[in-house]
Amino acid sequence: MLLAVEGLRVTYQLRKGWPFPRTHALKAVDGVDFSVDEGEAFGIVGESGCGKSTVARAILRLVDAAEGRIVFTGVDVTRLPARQLRRLRPKLQMIFQDPAASLSPRMRIGDALAEAIRVHAIASGTEVETLVRSALGEVGLPPEAAGRFPHEFSGGQKQRIGIARALVLSPKLIVADEPVSALDVSVQAQILNLMARLKAERNIAFVFISHDLGVVRHFCERTAVMYLGQIIETGATRAMFDAPAHPYTRLLRSVSPVPDPDRPAPDAVPEGEPPSPIDPPAGCRFHPRCGFATAICRTQPPLLRPFLAGLVACHHAENLPPAEIRS
Ligand code: SF4
Repeated sequence: MLLAVEGLRVTYQLRKGWPFPRTHALKAVDGVDFSVDEGEAFGIVGESGCGKSTVARAILRLVDAAEGRIVFTGVDVTRLPARQLRRLRPKLQMIFQDPAASLSPRMRIGDALAEAIRVHAIASGTEVETLVRSALGEVGLPPEAAGRFPHEFSGGQKQRIGIARALVLSPKLIVADEPVSALDVSVQAQILNLMARLKAERNIAFVFISHDLGVVRHFCERTAVMYLGQIIETGATRAMFDAPAHPYTRLLRSVSPVPDPDRPAPDAVPEGEPPSPIDPPAGCRFHPRCGFATAICRTQPPLLRPFLAGLVACHHAENLPPAEIRS
């Protein structure tokens, strides 16, 4: 196992002031467990505000865990001192939705990649240039790209540069937070295919955060669905999206249809906005939006438990009408 996330809790303190008359604790991630194997792509999906990006930030130690552990390559990184964390950093890289935000507009691409190599003492001298050219080639950019500035590239090319900057450090895990959601559909496919190739050739694992089920279905072997800071269903991606057990996974799938005229209509599940994570509902957090809710759902939180080939947190998973099965 490459990465283990165990009982992760992340809390943000919201200061007093409009619209909050007093200080609030927002439990952005409230008890999340999952693991990722070497070379595996693990997806995390859910609506905006479900906590998926906070999980990504916690893995990267960009926010601190209030509780729980994050174990990477056998090392508990949750509270690792900065110096030891820096040693692990090359193996744990990230790709963001907006790669330009992490590139200095005044730094040539070759210099940005070389800087990453030197900071982590991966190579020195002429080896640095060789590594930079090789990484640019791997992501489909010509060697001349090294001499250009970020503004000279399209969105898709900038994302390739972001991937190249991770690659020069030979990562074992890349945490990708909505890496293709700002790109056109045709460019999305190119970047996904590039990541899939690198995953296969270099045995790189991914934690892939997205709100787009189609993208996750294409790229990830296993996926977790998050709702209000918790995982409510997880399993093999295709099996789970073909026959989702949890009403919320059904809802997500029904609003993210895959175009196919032969497919039956999506399951009828009431929609609506998720409640505030500051004051989540008692019992099952999904109950105010769930068409299958009963009395127990309003008082007792369902535990994540084995169901079919995955895990689901729903009191009534066994008794729900079967979800449409897709081939
Ligand atoms: Fe719906 Fe109840 Fe299942 Fe929650 S536990 S998803 S409210 S049926």
